[in-house]
Amino acid sequence: SPLFSAITMAPRDPILGITEGFNADKNPAKVNLGVGVYYDDNGKVPLLECVKKAEAILMEKFAPRTYLPIEGLAAYDKAVQELVFGADSAVVQEKRAITAQAIGGTGALKLGADFLKRFAPDAQVWISDPSWENHRALFESAGFTVNNYPYYDAATRGVNFSGMLNALNTMPAGSIVLLHACCHNPTGADLSDDQWTQVIEVVTARGLVPFLDMAYQGFGDGIEADGKVVRRFAEAGGALFVSNSFSKSFSLYGERVGALSIAASSAEEAARIMSQLKRVIRTNYSNPPIHGGQVVATVLSTPELRQLWEEELAGMRVRIREMRAAFVAKLKEKAPAHNFDFVTQQRGMFSYSGLTKEQVEKLRDNNSIYAVDTGRICVAALNQRNIDAVIDAIAAVL
Ligand code: PLP
Repeated sequence: SPLFSAITMAPRDPILGITEGFNADKNPAKVNLGVGVYYDDNGKVPLLECVKKAEAILMEKFAPRTYLPIEGLAAYDKAVQELVFGADSAVVQEKRAITAQAIGGTGALKLGADFLKRFAPDAQVWISDPSWENHRALFESAGFTVNNYPYYDAATRGVNFSGMLNALNTMPAGSIVLLHACCHNPTGADLSDDQWTQVIEVVTARGLVPFLDMAYQGFGDGIEADGKVVRRFAEAGGALFVSNSFSKSFSLYGERVGALSIAASSAEEAARIMSQLKRVIRTNYSNPPIHGGQVVATVLSTPELRQLWEEELAGMRVRIREMRAAFVAKLKEKAPAHNFDFVTQQRGMFSYSGLTKEQVEKLRDNNSIYAVDTGRICVAALNQRNIDAVIDAIAAVL
């Protein structure tokens, strides 16, 4: 058909390309540091105990699979809102926030983008340079022009904070600013509390619309500490969008559990927002799937399971920290001329390791070690068994 013959091949997803190369590699010692998932010390994606227990409870009920409400499971939305903003926060207490279950963090971002396009069609969107590779495409596909604000500073391996602040200071009022609440993907470089204070001040004073993407709550410094910035923005009182995901923190990638929360200035405003958000959802996929939401709601609202989750999440966080520390210590020994101390300052699953594209290619060709061309490595893919080989290989390409 002429319809199909005019269709050209879309570019390959660069990160999926790495995994394809990795899968085809016959070297038994191969290591994939290009992934975006948490692996345990055995190199496996964990199934959390709290999830198993919640699933056992749900299985026993053999409940019918009716449709969920458009905005998702009420118990889920409530538990997530309390997790995101704090149960005792003013926005929750005053019913100024709305939360809708979404198809993972990606789905939450897309709902937010589609909602914003309806009510702020001429606003421009700003994302960090660099950012999660899907942010730009997602907001562009919702019809927005997407710009970058300065973020990563390769020279200091930290945040170019003055560049970021300058950019915020020159954006037109009403601009939508996408911020990573914690564990910045891909760099691992986060803002300090003091820097957040300044960002919140500028965003509030200039009437910018903050959209916080929180895909890694609990992977940085803890559930509370990582979520603090969301609470601080909510206290500042302006419009606020928050997408969050349980893909990583519950190791529930394929269940697609996330949520979009919006904080408004009154309960009445929040009700109007929810009514319109439901239209966005209804015309996209009608209502979300049931299982993942039930699992997360059960864990969050059952005290023993909640405690178990917090312990298991802490276990993942601590293991990543240990791998960061081991990475730095071992490189100090094998490549003393190079300083990798910044790796322990970074937060979350990823590190901008500083490896160049050429070094990444050498690691792949010589050692079957796969990383992203930008030098991004997934620290959570390191373990006791592969770390020495990875360090030796990196030391050899430096
Ligand atoms: N936002 C960021 C920064 C991410 O890194 C990811 C996943 O890698 C997402 C959103 C999407 O999360 P989900 O897999 O739940 O759609």
